[in-house]
Amino acid sequence: MIVAERKPIKEILAMVADFKKILLVGCKGCVTVCNAGGTKEVGILASALKIARKKEGNPIEIDEMTLERQCDPEYIDQLEEPLKNNNYDAVLSMACSVGPQFIARRYDNILVYPTLNTCFMGGALEHGVWAEFCQGCGNCIIHHFGGLCPIARCSKSLMNGPCGGSAGGKCEVSPDIDCVWHLIYDRMKQLGKLDQLREIFPIKDWSTSRDGGPRKIVREDLKK
Ligand code: SF4
Ligand code: SF4
Repeated sequence: MIVAERKPIKEILAMVADFKKILLVGCKGCVTVCNAGGTKEVGILASALKIARKKEGNPIEIDEMTLERQCDPEYIDQLEEPLKNNNYDAVLSMACSVGPQFIARRYDNILVYPTLNTCFMGGALEHGVWAEFCQGCGNCIIHHFGGLCPIARCSKSLMNGPCGGSAGGKCEVSPDIDCVWHLIYDRMKQLGKLDQLREIFPIKDWSTSRDGGPRKIVREDLKK
């Protein structure tokens, strides 16, 4: 999933400082799963903003909505009526950063603000702890490394490791980070595939992904 976290309340309050009425829009996708921008978080943020503004003697009106997803036009279309029927000063999105951009792309007459910081693609290690597992490099090669990603999970994105800083299974960048190359070695040993690690991999060729500009996937079989 895409993992995000909410911006500090001070930053969001500064965004809405000049506004009297806003629409706060959550997303039922990844940001609900990582407890950053679902219906519950929309309610919490709306209350926090209203309380803070009331304390300032400058109340703000906030309508709440949570869309199935903010990265699909069919759901973004559901904002049309509320935006037409209300005089909102702005829309605040609680989706990953794709959401506010999709809203801005669809509605050119309303200011759109992000309330989350989109952090990485990852998963939950335990309740309340998420970690990065993929950088969306566009050419997955984890099968060479026991199913572990050296691009996202090695601090230096080394394709051949470990580096000289690996010690006791930890990365030299921080004792909180497992050295993924240590994990790769252990896993390949466990699988009886250590010989595979003799292969030297060239450094990542980013020209197959980001260097060509924003990426796009076109599936002719799905286009209408
Ligand atoms: S190699 Fe790593 S960064 Fe690239 S797609 Fe696979 S998991 Fe993602
Ligand atoms: S210690 Fe391990 S994870 Fe850290 S940079 Fe070196 S090889 Fe990568």
